[in-house]
Amino acid sequence: MKSVEPIELFDLDAENLMIPSDKVAHVQVGNPLEHALLVLVKSGYSAVPVLDNSFKFKGIIGKTLILNRILGLERFEMEKLSEVKVSEVMNAEIPCLNKRDNFLTCLKTVINYPFVCVIDEEGFFEGILTRRPILKQLNKYLHVNKHNQS
Ligand code: AMP
Repeated sequence: MKSVEPIELFDLDAENLMIPSDKVAHVQVGNPLEHALLVLVKSGYSAVPVLDNSFKFKGIIGKTLILNRILGLERFEMEKLSEVKVSEVMNAEIPCLNKRDNFLTCLKTVINYPFVCVIDEEGFFEGILTRRPILKQLNKYLHVNKHNQS
């Protein structure tokens, strides 16, 4: 077996792989559910980050969370869309990454989540990491290794 040329996989960190904050759709903690649902439906995403006024990361809100919250015994209680705030429904118990986290940490984190938020030491939102760039880099790495074996 030939030795494998190291490719840059292990030099990559979350910053190299993330979608920067200016390209990420988000909602604010104080928004009503109606606004969040509009953003989700119009963007086509199933969930987006929730930020506060100072751009600090607070949680994630998704279509399923919203629909479960407005589901009554026999109907969807549509009036709740304007009454209930995003902060009351969002999921705040999710892991985040730091820009300096390495490839393996990123890979491990996105196993259980379609996307993970990247925040700085003070909690300010910097972007998101999806599974796509991780799988793309892994695919490239496996192909290089395959061709180096005989
Ligand atoms: P994807 O791998 O592109 O299908 O993205 C997975 C999930 O990440 C989507 O369903 C969204 O919840 C989230 N996501 C991806 N790109 C964005 C974006 N630009 N803004 C907000 N959320 C995003």
